[in-house]
Amino acid sequence: MNLICPRCLESKSLENILKDSTCTTCGENYKGPGKSIIIWKESAYSIIRNNESLLVKRTRDGKHKKTWARDFIKKCCRIKDSVSVKNFEQLSKLAKKRAIILVVGGSSIGEGAEKIYQLKAEKDCILYSIDIIDTEMVDCIADAHNIPLTTSSVDIVVLQAVLEHVIDPARVIAEVKRVLRDDGLIYSETPFLQPVHEGAYDFQRYTRSGHRYLLRNFDELASGRTGGPTEALLYIVSITINKMVGIKIGSLMWWMMIKLCKKVDNVLFSNVKYEDCSTGFYFIGRNNGRILTTDAIVKYYR
Ligand SMILES: [Zn+2]
Repeated sequence: MNLICPRCLESKSLENILKDSTCTTCGENYKGPGKSIIIWKESAYSIIRNNESLLVKRTRDGKHKKTWARDFIKKCCRIKDSVSVKNFEQLSKLAKKRAIILVVGGSSIGEGAEKIYQLKAEKDCILYSIDIIDTEMVDCIADAHNIPLTTSSVDIVVLQAVLEHVIDPARVIAEVKRVLRDDGLIYSETPFLQPVHEGAYDFQRYTRSGHRYLLRNFDELASGRTGGPTEALLYIVSITINKMVGIKIGSLMWWMMIKLCKKVDNVLFSNVKYEDCSTGFYFIGRNNGRILTTDAIVKYYR
């Protein structure tokens, strides 16, 4: 991948960033060497600005550490017909051979996203993960507001459950558009009716129209809801109970309940009118220079 200094967008200085931790062009100091931590700490958008301990804490808390039990439960309860699985299958079909894929927030494999990782073998694709959390999945610790990659260098960008955790989603989308090639693809999935998660680092929710307008610089190939009203209710009730009495539903039971809710939603609430009560929305789009107008966004509601 063609890494650049996220502050001055100079690629010449990369070698120095990794070797001496300093950009020779603008003088920005990065943490290194070792795994690249290319975060511009004085960036106006960075939520870890002046608080390096957050990065350290989040890399050491082991939250994303995989255990065999967790893996086993996840495997047993995998929802094969989930919306995300279908979306990633569609995205994988659209991917060209040897495509460069950027996963933003890629510290772990997202729900139903396995297919996109299989493209490394199936289509000889290069997959590059950035996140502010360090796990074995992450290639470079970087902030999505200042992506340290050269302009027009990526074919597909995946943002699954990321936009709610960034302080300025419009800035992140502008960065995604910058790094994407013309005709490049974007996949975005974001929550709607879901309680706050990740505490202080959960900043927004979008309706289907709001999500579309945020991504107005892309042509829509597909969009829709992720989970329906029954699933939304499960999230709200279970988190409320958890807050009231401190009882958390065990992961096996949780996955079984989610599975059941998805079935109910598919049978009873598949009509688009129930999108107003969904857990979240997805969008698959293409980068091609057209912009959706404010008039068009009003007509977009269904
Ligand atoms: Zn620089």
